[in-house]
Amino acid sequence: MKYPRSACIITVSVLFLAAGFAGSSDDANFSTVKRHSNNVYASGVDAQSELSSVLVGSGIEGAFSPSPALTRSGGTIHWVKIRDRIDDRGMRHVFYRQRYLPPASLVDAESSAAEGVWMVGAELGLHYDAQGELRFVFGTQFEDVEVTNSPVIGSAAEARAAALDSPSFTPRNPENITLEAIDSQLSRSELFLHSTGNGNSFDYVWETPVSDTSGTEWIATVDAESGELTKLEDRTPWSVCSPNSNDQDSAVGVAQNSSISNRSVWATETDDRGVTYTHEAHKVSSGTNPDIQVFYGVENDPCGDSDTQDYSLMPIKTIGGNPKYDDYTSPDNVPGQAGSDAIFFTYKTMATFDAYGWDSWDDSGGDAKIVVNAICPLYKEDNAMFAYSQAYDYVPRYGVAVCEKLHRDFSPAAAIDVVAHEWGHGVVFSSAGYAYSGDGMTYHEGFADIIGHAVEWYNQASGSAAERAEWKFAEDRDDDQGTWRRRPDVDDGSGGHSYHADDPPGVSSDPYQKGLRLSVAQYLMSEGGYNPVCDRLDELDGCDVNVNSIGTTMANRILFKMLTDYATSSSDWDDFGELGKEAAFALYNGCPLKNAPSQQGSVAKAFEAIGYPPTYPFLVPCP
Ligand SMILES: [Zn+2]
Repeated sequence: MKYPRSACIITVSVLFLAAGFAGSSDDANFSTVKRHSNNVYASGVDAQSELSSVLVGSGIEGAFSPSPALTRSGGTIHWVKIRDRIDDRGMRHVFYRQRYLPPASLVDAESSAAEGVWMVGAELGLHYDAQGELRFVFGTQFEDVEVTNSPVIGSAAEARAAALDSPSFTPRNPENITLEAIDSQLSRSELFLHSTGNGNSFDYVWETPVSDTSGTEWIATVDAESGELTKLEDRTPWSVCSPNSNDQDSAVGVAQNSSISNRSVWATETDDRGVTYTHEAHKVSSGTNPDIQVFYGVENDPCGDSDTQDYSLMPIKTIGGNPKYDDYTSPDNVPGQAGSDAIFFTYKTMATFDAYGWDSWDDSGGDAKIVVNAICPLYKEDNAMFAYSQAYDYVPRYGVAVCEKLHRDFSPAAAIDVVAHEWGHGVVFSSAGYAYSGDGMTYHEGFADIIGHAVEWYNQASGSAAERAEWKFAEDRDDDQGTWRRRPDVDDGSGGHSYHADDPPGVSSDPYQKGLRLSVAQYLMSEGGYNPVCDRLDELDGCDVNVNSIGTTMANRILFKMLTDYATSSSDWDDFGELGKEAAFALYNGCPLKNAPSQQGSVAKAFEAIGYPPTYPFLVPCP
């Protein structure tokens, strides 16, 4: 991607923080305070005044910084609230994004830049205790901003026109697209400031959806000054074959693995499937568990209205008086055993999220749609995915695709950790909100693995047999997969996996190999001991750290809370130990008597053992 520079240079220069530290250091291991670029940290009873002294820009509740931060050229920076959540402990977590408002001379009142533009990456979390006192602030702000192009293209309509005019794109004939569809695309267009590398210089870009000659929707990225089309991402429209009813019945679920007993699962009645199929694979929303729908891959969806939709809601027969998820060959090939695993493990995943205070995958009770034997691209067979940014032919947007098995005993639907991993991507997108690109992919895969392990340990007794909890990944689809299986408890030096900051992955950018470090911390908090990497590389920093075990229940609860209530889209390896301590403190403190020292200490030591010791005081003190 190429960004032309322009004569319009806007520089914002402000003082950066020198936060004090509340409370005491409770452990001799804490000796130095590091601070990496652009971090904002404020903690304890003085958090409000510390934040006020460093914050760049107005707009944060409590008037920490009463006016917009002025820039030399007259532009300003302010903050806009994006998330506001009260957790199950009565604590409030509010997140803001820092927006840049150009000087009036650069932008007219009609322009999309008039309300300010998000500098992608600048996000701050403010955390209040149950009494409403601000106790912790963590995140990123940009305080020295240079904008290197102008928002010459000031409206969504102009951005759309620029994309449609690009020689590299053939748009749909205007006669074939409705005004409603155009309005929808315009309303989903947005102007951003993207850093051009160092967090100091930024360019205006538009993202705007457009349709090509076939009607397929793409997201076009357009330089807001030159109008150059710099990127196209496809987002196929989809329609879902919806359940026929909400008449819920219990059903018998046959698992893919014949050593697992039949389960009690769910199905709804249908009358439009022909005489043999009485039900569909659908669990109606109940209590805090969301609506779950299971689809299966078909070349020509019999009930869809789109020829690009290669999946259909799974039909279920009544056998012996009860609807039964089983593999049928007549009149259709229906992979009901994989469907049984998918609906059961999706239910267990959502029940675990609920126990963690999180409502479905998106914390908004969103429907859970999962396609088994999805007709995935060839290289994806035996794999699974979460479709966040777009629909594909084989899976709806915000759905999970479980691809057909090719080399394994069972499809990935047989493995609770894989199913939970995929829904975990939905949690990551809906909480910290990492983009699935660059380092964001590493954190996505790492946290999705944490969630996979967490859901397995929450629902299964420990052991090595089928459907028992251990630290292998995806073992229940096939327990003999070779060395690429990532496991945090043993490092045999194979597979290229990275267990520590100074243990490079086999492929330097591989997000799975590098993301494994997160579940190594999870394993160490759960089971205690030394980083397994130290058997192979005993000179690494942190190999002398013996992590105290707090068990899987506490470890997983803390890490899930760290992701959902403390991390932002700019939180990185150096932040997790700190954010994990805050999560541990929030969940397990008994202040004023105890500040959860064993839980906090386990987090701090686990991240030190993987090469990322927490930056700030060793333990969060009681106020
Ligand atoms: Zn993943």
